[in-house]
Amino acid sequence: MSEQQTILVTGGASGIGLAIVEAALNEGWRAIIADRDPQSLDRCRDSFRQAPDRVRYETLDVADEEAVARTIARCAEEFGPITGLVNSAGIGSDIPAMDTSAALFRKILEVNLIGSFIVSREVARHMQAHGGGSIVNMASVSGIRGNSGRVAYGSSKAGVINMTQVMAVELAAAGIRVNAVAPGPIETPLVREMHTAESRAEWLRAVPLNRYGQPAEIAGAAIFLLDGSKASYVTGQTISVDGGFTTAGLRHN
Ligand code: NAD
Repeated sequence: MSEQQTILVTGGASGIGLAIVEAALNEGWRAIIADRDPQSLDRCRDSFRQAPDRVRYETLDVADEEAVARTIARCAEEFGPITGLVNSAGIGSDIPAMDTSAALFRKILEVNLIGSFIVSREVARHMQAHGGGSIVNMASVSGIRGNSGRVAYGSSKAGVINMTQVMAVELAAAGIRVNAVAPGPIETPLVREMHTAESRAEWLRAVPLNRYGQPAEIAGAAIFLLDGSKASYVTGQTISVDGGFTTAGLRHN
């Protein structure tokens, strides 16, 4: 039986974040879903009706520094100490570097990198005062490899990996572990929007397990990293959950 937890999941109303909320509730934990999309939050309210006391819903833009601080303080006061954070809120693009505007680059950094930083810093302040916790950032294989079309997205995720390392080192003394998961292609609304039939075929060729992953397969890694009874000695790491994509070189089959 894993320890009791209260986790905050940004981007928790869809895709990978939603799968992490579902897995956390299955562990018997409590979850705060923070997402900027009120309609997705309403759908969550419907589907988690059976666990009303264990789920809380917050409309939040992770890039809004003041709103993040206010929301976290209010959640902690009304819902109790937050022991785990998952930064899953993210946006993407698939555009050649030569066609990428500075405005688009900034927008992606603002949400994926700076937004994750703001939420991590605010939650870590709270965790410092409550004996520690665990933070899990959603990176991407595009932050590890030079995938074409991902100049802004991949740079934001490479930043997330380094931010994970720096915060892991600085927060270790406070009992806060900080890790990241780097998913490969996972069947979610984000990917359905970004991948064409042609790019799907390319991904399948590049993934040794020869399939897209499911959100629940990322949730498994996130729950492990959140759980201090299982991942107590793991910090500063980025775990690729990618069907072998980042490992693969030349392949004959
Ligand atoms: P998704 O679009 O299904 O879910 C993302 C959620 O984040 C949405 O509910 C959206 O409303 C929310 N969001 C976006 N901007 C926000 C903001 N500024 N503030 C608060 N919420 C915001 O996407 P997903 O595929 O589940 O992706 C989740 C994370 O995993 C992202 O960080 C993404 O980059 C990363 N990732 C996904 C894949 C994949 O293949 N799906 C691969 C690698 C990494």
